[in-house]
This record gives sequence, structure tokens and C-alpha cells, in this order.
Amino acid sequence: MTTDQISITTATHKKEKPSQDQVPFGTIFTDHMFMMNYDTNEGWHDPRIVPYAPISLDPAAMIFHYGQTVFEGLKAYRAEDGRILLFRPEKNFQRLNLSSDRLSIPPIDEERMLEYLIKLLEVEKDWVPSTLKTSLYIRPFIISTEPNLAVGPSRTYTFMIILSPVGSYFPGGIRPVTIHVEEQFTRAAKGGTGMAKTAGNYSSGYQAQAIAKKEGNADVLWLDGAEKKYIEEVGSMNIFFKINGEIITPALTGSILKGITRMSIIELLQSWGMPVTERKISIEEVYQAFTEGTIEEVFGTGTAAIISPIGELNWQGQKMIINNHEIGEVSQKLYDTITGIQRGQLEDPFGWVV
Ligand code: PMP
Repeated sequence: MTTDQISITTATHKKEKPSQDQVPFGTIFTDHMFMMNYDTNEGWHDPRIVPYAPISLDPAAMIFHYGQTVFEGLKAYRAEDGRILLFRPEKNFQRLNLSSDRLSIPPIDEERMLEYLIKLLEVEKDWVPSTLKTSLYIRPFIISTEPNLAVGPSRTYTFMIILSPVGSYFPGGIRPVTIHVEEQFTRAAKGGTGMAKTAGNYSSGYQAQAIAKKEGNADVLWLDGAEKKYIEEVGSMNIFFKINGEIITPALTGSILKGITRMSIIELLQSWGMPVTERKISIEEVYQAFTEGTIEEVFGTGTAAIISPIGELNWQGQKMIINNHEIGEVSQKLYDTITGIQRGQLEDPFGWVV
């Protein structure tokens, strides 16, 4: 199967594009989408770009009942010279296959997926916004479609890519957020699906997030499922601490998503001579560092915000104010460097940009 075999059906009606920097996340979609089907006879087949439209599924489709589904999230950026840039997209497709493996979904050829995405972006190139800090969010996903209520893996799937123009995560520039350390609910357990990007990992967090938000927090920091002792990750972000000069991030133990921003930050800091320790870090250790005044910076990392400084952690009624609610030096430098590389404004010594 080659990209030549992708069929393209052009939309006859083109939507009006939004005013570029005022777009709420994930609410507007472009004119076209990519689709491909799987069945046990033909494997993945019929790659096609079609007008963006609702899809029709049997009410017994397995996605509705047992949640066999995976997704990815990445962005296309417009460089000043007009080129459209992707940041390490091959890592997203590798991760999609890792998630699929965990959810018993058949893998897709990663190189082909990237070719399909590039083809779709060529069709939709006018949708990649050019205003500072805007981008085109890319959502590849797979759903199980077999109409069958028997519990077990589906024999048919649909892979799709949809595109959504997004504004800046922090319209007024990056600013530190307040995070609640979650002790009642669990996101993921050892041996569970925490390392997969799958629907249930997100909806199962809503209840905790709603309670935390009512108390003025932006999101929750998840602790490990067994002892509620070790730090895992925040909502849709991995987390880093700078304590007494050491940069620490929770090790990937299977219950944490292997963030591509996380990976890039570890490589970047290493290149600056600031190695990151990937290890277990307990909330007690963080609290102790806070009481001793050695906690310098805390920040979340992910595709949405890139770097989200954390100005306050609320744990068991204790408020840990970090760096006086100000953006730390390392956080700011990382944000400037990664966003600069992503938009082609800075040199890309790592070959990250496609
Ligand atoms: N953790 C979770 C649970 C996420 O959903 C995300 C967003 N994909 C991340 C971490 C950050 O990953 P990335 O840097 O690849 O966006």
C-alpha cells in the first residue's frame, strides 16, 4: 500500500476559517479528514481523505460498549517562512501502536501513517494558522467498529485523523497553575492501562478533576494506585521537579504516559549539562523539600502547553507555594527553546522537526 493509493474526495463546501488566535481548544474542525478501515481479511485498507462529516456506526459497535479505542495528539506549526512543521511525529505513531498493543488493536505501519498525515496536511495546508502561538492540533485515533456485544477484541476497526486549529494555551503568556494532589481517586495501577493513550484513562479522571476545580485548582496530580505515595503525572502532562539543583521526573513504570515533550526535555536538559534523574519521587519528599526551602521549580510538560509551571501544590490541606508563584528560570528557558525549535525559529540540533 502506498500513499498513491490514497483516494481524495474534495469537499465542495469550504468552511470559514476562524479568527486565528481566539479559538477554544478542539471545537472547530477542518474541511477534510483521513479514514482507513481494518478487517481480518484485508488488514488495514482503503486509505482515503474525505470531507469532514459525521460517521455512521452500528449501535452495537464495540467502541460504545467496551471502550476499545486509542488516540494521539500532536500539532502542526507554521514557520515564519510559511513551511508547515511537525515535532517528532514518528514518536506519536510509535506510541499509538504501543497503546494499540495494550488495547488488543492491530498495529498500523508507522511510516505509512506519517505519509497519510502529511498528505492530509497538504490538502488542509490553509488551515495551519500563522499567528504567533497558534497551531493545528492533530488527533489520530482508532475505534473498534464490529457490531457485537460479546466481550472481546473487535474484528473491525476504523483509523481516522481529524484536524483542529487551536489558539495559544496561555493567551497572556505562560503562567503558573495550582494543582491538587489527589489522594482519593486513582488514575492508573501497576499492570493497568496507564501507559496507553486510551479513552477510559481520561473519563475516569473527570470526577477528581471536578472536585479539585471547585476548590480552585487547575488539575490534579495523580499518585501511584497502590500506596498513594509516589508521584505519577498531572491530567494531560508529565511532571518535573527542580530540588536543590537536581531535576527529577517520575520514572516510567507502566502507569505513566511516555510523553514526547517529557522525552524531549530530558534530551534537551542533558545537552545543556543538566541531567534529569528519572526515579520514584514521593509526595513526602516533595513536601520535605518545600519545608526545607530547597524546592526551586515544578512544571508540567505536554503537547498542549509545552511547559506549564506549577506555582502551588495542595496536599492534605497543606499549600506548597513554589517559587513564589513565579515562572522558574529552567521552565522559561525550556519553553522558549522547545517552542522556538517547533516553529523553526531556533536551530534544531536534534533533528526533531519534520
Ligand atoms: N500524560 C498524559 C496522560 C497525557 O494525556 C499527555 C498528553 N499526550 C501527556 C502526559 C504528555 O504527553 P506529550 O508530551 O506526548 O503530549
